[in-house]
Amino acid sequence: MKETENFNIKSGIAAAPGLTIARAYIFSKEKEVVNDSFIVDPDEAIRDLEEALEKSRKELEKVLAVTIDILGKNRGEIFEAQIMILDDPFLIGNIKKRIAEEKRNPEFTVDTEFSKYQKIMARSEQPYMKERILDIEDIKNRIIKNIRKKKWVSRLSNDIIVISEFLTPADTVLFLKNNVQGYVTNSGGLTSHAAILARSLNIPAVVGLHNATTIIKNDDLIILDGSHGQVIINPDQNTLEKYNKKITRLQAYGEDLKKLRDEPAITLDGRHVKLMANLDLNEEFHFITENGAEGIGLVRTEQIFQGDDTFPSEEVQTAAYRKLAEMTYPNRVIIRAFDVGGDKMLPVDLKEPNPFLGWRGIRFLLDNPGLLKTQTRAVLRAAVFSNISFMIPMVSSFREIIAFKSIVNECENELRNEGKEFYEGIKLGIMIEVPSAAVMAKEFAAEVNFVSIGTNDLIQYLLAVDRGNDIISDQYQEFHPSVVRSLAHIIKEAKSNEQSFVSICGEMAADPLAVPLLVGLGLDSLSVSASAIPNIKKIIRSLKYSETIELASKCLECKREKEIRDEMRRFFMEKFPDIYEELFST
Ligand code: PEP
Ligand code: MG
Repeated sequence: MKETENFNIKSGIAAAPGLTIARAYIFSKEKEVVNDSFIVDPDEAIRDLEEALEKSRKELEKVLAVTIDILGKNRGEIFEAQIMILDDPFLIGNIKKRIAEEKRNPEFTVDTEFSKYQKIMARSEQPYMKERILDIEDIKNRIIKNIRKKKWVSRLSNDIIVISEFLTPADTVLFLKNNVQGYVTNSGGLTSHAAILARSLNIPAVVGLHNATTIIKNDDLIILDGSHGQVIINPDQNTLEKYNKKITRLQAYGEDLKKLRDEPAITLDGRHVKLMANLDLNEEFHFITENGAEGIGLVRTEQIFQGDDTFPSEEVQTAAYRKLAEMTYPNRVIIRAFDVGGDKMLPVDLKEPNPFLGWRGIRFLLDNPGLLKTQTRAVLRAAVFSNISFMIPMVSSFREIIAFKSIVNECENELRNEGKEFYEGIKLGIMIEVPSAAVMAKEFAAEVNFVSIGTNDLIQYLLAVDRGNDIISDQYQEFHPSVVRSLAHIIKEAKSNEQSFVSICGEMAADPLAVPLLVGLGLDSLSVSASAIPNIKKIIRSLKYSETIELASKCLECKREKEIRDEMRRFFMEKFPDIYEELFST
């Protein structure tokens, strides 16, 4: 991303819309340097250490259990060894004794004691001992991290803009308790899961600023414009006033949109496009009703359970899905099977060379049928309200759809034999987010009741552009002619099966500029972050379906991304000059 002329205005990727003004908090993801500062209360430090050891143990036990389950007993040994280190009475006793006597902070004492072990091992003649040095490093860092984490969270003040090198989905959620006002990162892309979460939570974010953590200092005053990807550092009085006025104007626009809450998303000439919400966290459920969604088009189950230590049991999942179904009734809830892998954490300690092309989504689930069966049984049992549908992510072959259907069948038979109540007519679906599934849309869609197009992944796999990599973010193009033509192909092919319902749940659907095109391509439903719903609804209600069809056919003729983008802008400016002003002008 290019920087603008003015030294204190920086441009990055507009990852989550909204305007906010607050103080900066630099969240360092680097391994912090351990210093040897003195402490006043050694008892408290020892308690912190004990808590960190316990937390490390829980994390390692979880990793161990899943590793043994999936990769076999031998692969679990390294974690068993790490857990044994946590129990080593000599080592741990020594650390506690030193904290009490020397009154140095616990991170320092852990670091120096573990380093002694590592030095002895480094002198060993045996290669095995040398290899263990890394294990010791790993556990040392885990303990230090767990001692630290507790501290930086409690030290934080509220209403901050978090500035970081990058953020994981877990980090994004972590700052909620501090009423975080915005996020700025050096790296990351528009559809990285941290950015998606920021949008779901309605927290403005700018990513891919490259050097945010070096040019911004703690407590700098920041204007964060997530809609235009701009960050203004320590603005002058005039700029502050200008942006404060804009915030007031946007609030009034937001209030105006609220009036449409209970209206459906119907075009001026009567085409109803179902406007649903994506659910990433249970905490955001109230946004869904407040913003007037007609159901939930995507529940990212891997995210709603992400704070749990292990995959949740059938009972826990049944209760969670049932609650969602009850709260959404009579509208539909589409539950997606766990989509682990990629940039979402894999529950095993496995380093893949290409995680986005690796053990992800349905591939992982079919290799771990116990996991998929538990989730399927829970979904079937929760579906007693009959408004739950179930879909699978990352489908790339026919075989996977058949295997999934047979697991659903097997679970239904089991529940029947056990005399458990469940819904017999559940609607099944697949996500189309891999080019092979896009090409085969007709045949794949014929096997299920609905398809949901996941453009976040489809774009990255179609264009071979990593969705989370800011270096090539200008090549991650939702209006690339091949993307638009693929969407047209998927919709046409899938709809040649009469029963098929075709929706989109990727972030493209939340881009106001893309909405007329998506409507014109014939989608039955759009599922977007709840916060985007009022705006998208206003756009759909101001469109003529017939005109969007013309727009779509023009775009399908184009050869370049820019031609399509220009077409969309022209359409938008002509039809809604007022919305265009509000959404796209700085
Ligand atoms: C997508 O790929 O478009 C999608 C909705 O799934 P996720 O973002 O969770 O990968
Ligand atoms: Mg996806």
